[in-house]
Amino acid sequence: MSTPKQKKYKGFSSLAIHAGQHPDPMYAHLTPIYASSTYVFDDAEQGMRRFAGQESGYIYSRWGNPTMNEAEEKIAAMETYGLEKNGEQLQAKAILHASGMAAISSLFLATLKRGDKILTQYSLYSGTQDLMRSILDPLEVETIVIDLADLDLAEKHLKEDASIRMIYLETPANPTLQCVDLESLGALAKKYGKLSACDNTFATPYLQQPFRFGIDFIVHSTTKFLNGHGTAIGGVLVGTDIEFMKTRATKTHRLLGGNSNGFEAFLLINGMKTLEVRMQRHCDNAMKIAEYLEAHQAVEKVNYNGLSSHPDYALSKKQMSHAGAMMSFELKGGYDAGVKFMNALQLCTRAVSLGTCDTLLSHPASMSNANMSPALRLKSGISDGLIRMSVGMENIEDIMDDFEQALK
Ligand SMILES: *Cc1c(COP(=O)(O)O)cnc(C)c1O
Repeated sequence: MSTPKQKKYKGFSSLAIHAGQHPDPMYAHLTPIYASSTYVFDDAEQGMRRFAGQESGYIYSRWGNPTMNEAEEKIAAMETYGLEKNGEQLQAKAILHASGMAAISSLFLATLKRGDKILTQYSLYSGTQDLMRSILDPLEVETIVIDLADLDLAEKHLKEDASIRMIYLETPANPTLQCVDLESLGALAKKYGKLSACDNTFATPYLQQPFRFGIDFIVHSTTKFLNGHGTAIGGVLVGTDIEFMKTRATKTHRLLGGNSNGFEAFLLINGMKTLEVRMQRHCDNAMKIAEYLEAHQAVEKVNYNGLSSHPDYALSKKQMSHAGAMMSFELKGGYDAGVKFMNALQLCTRAVSLGTCDTLLSHPASMSNANMSPALRLKSGISDGLIRMSVGMENIEDIMDDFEQALK
């Protein structure tokens, strides 16, 4: 389904609550969970018209269904909220996927072919790095990894290597909360005729809209803050080239088969309605915890882009409305201190993933990045005593109490 014209909403939550919802034939208040693999044709001619694209309507749920459609329209609306192109509301189309990785796979396979290269940064979601290494490399789609904070170096690559087809960004990135300059890199991509894509999972469209800076594609793991409750895996690919999204991107998604489903789309829709209020609470808590940790004697360093001590403080202020709720911090005692701290937590949850109501903490050196070579680990900013945290929405006093006892 294509994106309908966006109504003018004065605020983000109004849009997040209402966008994408269509009147239900049975007058259900909320879009129901459409648990139907296939859709009925009144007659053979209608089937022909739907297949030919002459009549809109559903055919088969791998291709789309009404619950998935509401989630897609909501996300496209949020990522384009308040953005204009030539004096008109900017349009985007979103395709919901089974996971963030499915959306990223569709992005790469829809846009790249043998011999093409991706230019990207060191700090990327580990699954994305592995996808590039284990799946794209054997298909002869090579990845060039550089420090994208060095804009001159980025430009040199874009200028000199004609086979670079896409610049792939993630900001803020795991686990150092390093930010890359969306405006400058988006402009460089345009200047040299390259595609640009950004993983906007950590920020969500409430805090950062990459389309504002001319980025072509956005991907999300909707599993995280968009869903917000840790109830479903999901992903989305969003693009402003509507024609490309309707043709090549849609075809790739349908053929790879990484489709979502009615139930998980329903959970996502209802999670997204409260994105603004949730993010405000997440962010308030994050700022307080970051300041507390920065002053704590057991802590060597806090990586939070909302602190003026973070190298990307100014950049994140420029392109985000708030620094978000992800951070990491280094404990003075290294690996052992990391393990000990994790074991001492009583309220906060030991788990990977992020963006849930509860505060989640993980110890990358012993968990998610344990099988990475120590050298690459350090290059990615993961020291032995590093703790990664997704700050939740508990009352801040309780999070502080738990930290106070666990850091003793
Ligand atoms: C979790 C995550 C992904 C992968 O998403 P899944 O839903 O787990 O497939 C991609 N990028 C970032 C930044 C993530 O945090």
